[in-house]
This record gives sequence, C-alpha cells and structure tokens, in this order.
Amino acid sequence: MKIIKTTASNFDEEFENILSRAKTDIKEVSAIVTGIIDEIVQSGNEALKSHIQKFDKWEVKSDEELMISQEDMKKAYDNIDENLKKALHTAYDRIKKYHEKQLPKSWVDFEKNGTILGQKVTPVDKAGLYIPGGKAAYPSSLLMNAIPAIVAGVEEIVVCTPTPNNEVNELLLAACHICNVSKAFKVGGASAIAAMAYGTKTIPKVDVITGPGNIFVATAKKLVFGEVNIDMIAGPSEIGVLSDSSAKPKYLAIDLLSQAEHDEMASSIMITVDENIANETSVEVENYLKNLSREKIARKSIEDRGAIIVAKDMEEAIKLMNEIAPEHLEVMTSNPFELLPKIKHAGAIFLGENTPEPIGDYIAGPNHTLPTGSTAKFYSPLNVENFLKKSSIINFSKNAIDELGEACAILADTEGLTAHAKSVRVRLESK
Ligand code: NAD
Repeated sequence: MKIIKTTASNFDEEFENILSRAKTDIKEVSAIVTGIIDEIVQSGNEALKSHIQKFDKWEVKSDEELMISQEDMKKAYDNIDENLKKALHTAYDRIKKYHEKQLPKSWVDFEKNGTILGQKVTPVDKAGLYIPGGKAAYPSSLLMNAIPAIVAGVEEIVVCTPTPNNEVNELLLAACHICNVSKAFKVGGASAIAAMAYGTKTIPKVDVITGPGNIFVATAKKLVFGEVNIDMIAGPSEIGVLSDSSAKPKYLAIDLLSQAEHDEMASSIMITVDENIANETSVEVENYLKNLSREKIARKSIEDRGAIIVAKDMEEAIKLMNEIAPEHLEVMTSNPFELLPKIKHAGAIFLGENTPEPIGDYIAGPNHTLPTGSTAKFYSPLNVENFLKKSSIINFSKNAIDELGEACAILADTEGLTAHAKSVRVRLESK
C-alpha cells in the first residue's frame, strides 16, 4: 500500500488526489438517466419492463410480476436459519433503540401577551427505500433504511430493489417481513428512482426516497430532487483511520480492507504519526489481501485509491483527516476520547481498537447509510429526521396582535404589500 510522508515534495499533489476521490464526470451518465426518467414518466410500467429486460435480464410478463408479495416476505422469513433470524432480530432491536433516541418532539411555547408558538413534527405519508441489488444484495441496508422510517411513524414503506435474472434474495425478503414493508418491487436503477418519484400504475409516488446505489441511482436521485425529497448522495465506500504507535497493524490492515472489498472505487486512507506502524500495516495489508474472497476488487481499490500518510504529529493528522471528511473514521489511538472534540467531519466515528467499522455496518445501532466523498462536511448519516418534516404553529391573542401588529404592518408597507398591512390593521382597528 502506498506510503506518503507529509514532508514529501509531492505531498500536496497526492493529497489533492485523495480529496478529489469521489469526483466523477456525470455528463454522460446524466444523459442516460434523463432518458430513463423520461421513459418512466411517459410509459410507466411498460418502460419499467423494458428496462428490467435490458439491465436485469429477465422478462416481466405482467404488472403483478413486478411486485413482491407480503406472503413471499413471510415465507422467506419462516424459512431462514434460526441463527440468522436471531441475528436479524438483534440488529433490528439495536438499530431501532438507537434511532428512537433521535426522534424530535413537537413543542409549544407560551408568551406573556398570549402568543402561542410551536412546532409540529409529522412523518411523511410514504417513503421509498432503494435497496441496491445489482452486484450483491444488502439485507442490512433494508434494516438501516426501513427502521428510521418506522420510528418516524411513516405509514407506507415502499421498497424497490433490482433482481437480476429474477432471483430474489431471500434474506432481503425476510428483512422486509421484519420491517413490515408495505410494498416491494423488483425494479432497480434509475427506473426505480423515477417510478417512486413520479409513480406508475403499480408503484406509488412517494414523498422521500432514501438508500444507496450505483452511479445511475445516485444521478437519478439528484435529478428527481424537488419532485420528492432525498436523503443524500452516497457514493463508493470509504474508511479513514487515525493511528498512533499503540495501534495494532493487523487490526489496521484488515479494517482498511473491510471497505476496499466493497468496490474498486472505494477508498481506504490511514493517517499515522508512527512510520513503523505505516510500514507494518502496509505489509499486513498484502498478507490479508491474498486470502480475501473479493481479493480482486480490494486489491484494485487499495492500489488505485488507498494510501497511508505519515504525519508529523496528531494535530497535523487530525487536520488532514478533517479535510478528507471520510464516510467512516476509526480512531485507533491510546486516547480516542481525548481526540474526539477535535474531529469535525466524518459520517461515523469508531473509537478504540475494539470498534472495527463493520460492527457499525450491521449491529451497533447507528445507521450505516453515511455521507461519502467529503460530503460529511455538510451531510449527516441517514436518520429519523429524513422521514419527518416540521410545521410551525402560531396563535396570537387580541393582546398579542395589538402589541405586535403595527410593527408587522410597517414592515409590510415597506415591501409594498398593502393587503398584508391591511390584514393586520383591520384587526388593530377592531375593538
Ligand atoms: P444497484 O442496485 O445500485 O444498481 C443496479 C441497477 O443499475 C440495475 O438494475 C440497472 O437498472 C442499473 N444499471 C446497470 N447498468 C446500467 C447501465 N449501463 N445503464 C443504466 N442503468 C444501469 O446495484 P450495484 O450496481 O450493485 O451498486 C450498488 C452500490 O451501492 C455499490 O456501489 C455499493 O458499494 C453501494 N452500497 C452502499 C451502501 C451504503 O450504505 N453506503 C450499502 C450497500 C451498497
């Protein structure tokens, strides 16, 4: 794995490449995705069927065949191995408990003059979850997307997932059953995003679309934003690791690889203050790589996008990591909690040597749908609020309008909005 010192003459150039890791030229993809969206808007289910034939390689003979029934979800759940069932329920319970703590409350506030102000929190009616399924199936993503919607109180949860060759992942169906998914469809890619944004005869139009996916899914989410809400644009996985001389290279190496094995485009970056740790970790990465089931993907990711940076001190290491703003950040130092206040930008922060990133992918409780490509500088992990919206509550008494009405009318006058001003003054004039 490439090792770079911050004192090297080409460091700035190398670091710039790390910062621009997620930049893709989406012009070509945008044109394809715009075409797909237009076809769904114009031809609904018929376009869906033809896209499935083209990309997922199976023939949909009727509208009903697009759907996955709740009976199939139940059957899949009944048939899975008991240990797997137990693991799914453990994950479900822990994710639910964590997200329940996020639930914001409606509130009202009373002022002396009789004004009542407040905020009412309401779930969206329908949420559309995109669960990727092109190259692999992700039952864990179903839990991570459905549970915050359940906690928010969303009444109708719709799932779209591609089923290449019409093969449905049974564990995904079992997870749909546990989450009481209302409707699920065997539709993927930009077509699924367009169908949930605009609705077809079979797929309902939803209010918010969440979930990860490939470049076609991400581009479609960007293009339908405004017609529906979206959670974020999540790209290829990333891990950043901060380490000092107390860290174990064997742990560091396999944790870096845990993200590299996701995708050739994934990026794994460690910043350490100890050059020996850098060298030993690089050797361990090579040792592990040979035995990984996804060696080819992980090797390409590590070779093209992986790096170990040797910093002068922890101050410099943290400053650089805040610039990278990784999706996942592991703090593998002797004092992780002391460093926490200085860490500003990361999707999820894993503290200490017994907290490997994969624990957060499945079982810890926090969401694994996280901002990538430095967007942790302004996005948060998927959370309950993605499925909620707020309404302001305002109630003025006669005393309150008498006290504040003239100031309101003056402001309306200066904006030239005479009906606004009059609507207040007509009340001030009435005794
Ligand atoms: P996917 O479900 O995102 O995409 C498959 C669909 O893409 C197909 O059904 C098809 O409709 C469309 N498609 C494929 N080729 C196309 C083409 N040439 N033109 C137009 N549309 C085309 O599945 P995937 O491809 O396996 O990608 C999943 C992605 O999601 C990966 O990058 C993975 O790392 C990521 N992921 C992220 C998380 C997370 O939480 N961040 C979790 C799971 C997966």
